[in-house]
Amino acid sequence: MAHTTLFSAPGHANVLIEDYNTGGLAVQANQHVIVHGDAGMILDPGGHKVYSKVLAATLSVLGRAKLKYLFLSHQDPDIVAATNGWLMTTDADAYISDLWTRFVPHFGLDHLVASRLKSIPDRGQTLDLGGCELLIVPAHYLHSCGNFHVYDPISKILYTGDLGASIGVEGVEVTDFDAHIVKMEGFHKRYMASTRALKAWVRMVRGLDIEMIVPQHGLFMRGKPMVTRFLDWLDGLVCGIDLMEDVYRIPPSSKSG
Ligand code: FE
Repeated sequence: MAHTTLFSAPGHANVLIEDYNTGGLAVQANQHVIVHGDAGMILDPGGHKVYSKVLAATLSVLGRAKLKYLFLSHQDPDIVAATNGWLMTTDADAYISDLWTRFVPHFGLDHLVASRLKSIPDRGQTLDLGGCELLIVPAHYLHSCGNFHVYDPISKILYTGDLGASIGVEGVEVTDFDAHIVKMEGFHKRYMASTRALKAWVRMVRGLDIEMIVPQHGLFMRGKPMVTRFLDWLDGLVCGIDLMEDVYRIPPSSKSG
């Protein structure tokens, strides 16, 4: 099975699992695994259609390490739909915004595993992955109202969920940022809720030492110059409600006469 290793150092690895969802009706989605020592985390593991393949690939990436965490950036079905399967087949705890812990069970959550769905408070937190302290940073309204990203201080990767997502692209990595903007722009203008939230997030993450921006859909961005260009682009983007106020009109009746 094909994987792309984004970073590796003794005792630490960040691996992109090959997309198993190509050519279907469902949106393309990336799955990511972080391994540190004897512990692993899967980020945004996806829905039922990819579950068994992503589970097998994750177990092979983990090797002798054990899956400790399932990180769920927000509540969308391409992220949480297979949560019950993951909790039933592993000993991992799943983490999601406090806003969503009572909604995920609608996808079916066996009572045996319900207590292993944990809530993240609005201000975020840290998670200890085998001795590596991962930062769970707020990204609310980008796009979900209860939304988090993961920063790994060893690889200096910021996993940004839907932020930085690109649609209809080939490959795994951005090579030409200017040419890539068109692949991100429409999605960000419509799915990201608020310009103000975007600017607050950019201000926060400029305080992190970031080598890679790794979204859940499409291509990742590598290297500080690319990361800076991405943050500057977001800082100047107008999105969401700030573009859409005039859509709030009662639709005209289709009945004539
Ligand atoms: Fe989403």
